[in-house]
Amino acid sequence: MNFYLGIDFGTSGARAVVIDDAACIQAEARYPWGNSHVSDWVTDWQTALLTLLAKISEELRRKIKAIAINGTSSTVLLVDAVGKPVDAPLFYNDGRGLTVIEKLRSIAPANHPVISATSSLAKLLWMSQQPTFTEARYFLHQADWLAFLLHGELAISDYHNALKLGYDVEELKYPKWLENLQIPIQLPKVLPPGSPIRELRPKIAANFGLPNDCLVCTGTTDSIAAFVASGAKLPGEAVTSLGSTLVIKLLSRTRIENSQYGIYSHRLGDLWLTGGASNTGGAVLKYFFTDVELESFSRQIDASKASELDYYPLLQAGDRFPINDPHLPPRLTPRPDDPVEFLHGLLESIARIESQGYKLLQLMQADPLSRVYTAGKGAANQTWTTIRQRYLKVPVVSSVNTEAAYGTALLAMRGVKN
Ligand code: ADP
Repeated sequence: MNFYLGIDFGTSGARAVVIDDAACIQAEARYPWGNSHVSDWVTDWQTALLTLLAKISEELRRKIKAIAINGTSSTVLLVDAVGKPVDAPLFYNDGRGLTVIEKLRSIAPANHPVISATSSLAKLLWMSQQPTFTEARYFLHQADWLAFLLHGELAISDYHNALKLGYDVEELKYPKWLENLQIPIQLPKVLPPGSPIRELRPKIAANFGLPNDCLVCTGTTDSIAAFVASGAKLPGEAVTSLGSTLVIKLLSRTRIENSQYGIYSHRLGDLWLTGGASNTGGAVLKYFFTDVELESFSRQIDASKASELDYYPLLQAGDRFPINDPHLPPRLTPRPDDPVEFLHGLLESIARIESQGYKLLQLMQADPLSRVYTAGKGAANQTWTTIRQRYLKVPVVSSVNTEAAYGTALLAMRGVKN
């Protein structure tokens, strides 16, 4: 039996999952980020990586064939000639790139995902204006740097992480407009996610009792890893995340880009992963109900009957997808006295928005929806699933797994099995 290790560097902590040849989970380990302010993130990441490796039993470690790591999208750093970070990393949500957005607008094609204050390219341009830039040789994403610690080669990335750096995922090269910028830094060589890079550094293999021929593969981003984990893999299959917000992702043979609605596509092998995010979702439910109330009131709803209430549940004005209107007012009236009726209206309305989102993607030529996997806490609500099924008119099922680390372990497995 061979084993494959996926490591997720997410927003709340790092997590490792080991799977076997049948994609069954054999071990899991966690490393939460502390609540205290961490001044040296890269050391903490390194500690997390090594701690997670140490938490896997020696017996399993001896048979790990491949490892892949995912990071948060657009968490980036600059390193010197030997891979040592020259400054603190910039995190996924760091908006300092706002100062270069006009420059980005003038060089990148209209509507390109790099035109955002938090894109990797915006961060690189901002970093290039800092004093530490003179010491930098390579620009890496979080996942690239962590994988480098294991395999020792500078600088390799994958086309999921590299999308917001401007890499052309259709032509599989850096575009001319990016080269024309002549940023004096080595950009990573980009490979498909889950491609073998090279074997582990001998020292790491020896320290952890990992096989010398264990391959380190390219990684991905946390949200794509979670999509891979869901089990969706055919055109028309989708994943809805019912967390604080509503996020939908649909696998399609057609690439869809529409900046007006915040839609862009990631490449997933021969397919495209497209989707959008709405501000509606569980945060609105949480505002009105406790989790216990959500459970008990949901059980009292007759999900086979449509609610007459037509809401657009938002906590504050504005949505982008499937309605692009920064001033869209929340619509939460009329509010019935009966909380069960009110919740029915909310669940029904969010389901309507979800279905509208999938319809919009299909209008833009995405493959017809065939099956919806569901992630997030809302996935456990059977009443909601029945309501959603009424709107979506396709099977609505739970995700096989919702953990990014599991999806990344699958990538590592496919990387060495294919
Ligand atoms: P996130 O990681 O985005 O915070 P979670 O997957 O943890 O999302 O989901 C949290 C949301 O799930 C909360 O906003 C909460 O209102 C909602 N939630 C919790 N229990 C239920 C339930 N039984 N039915 C529907 N939504 C629920």
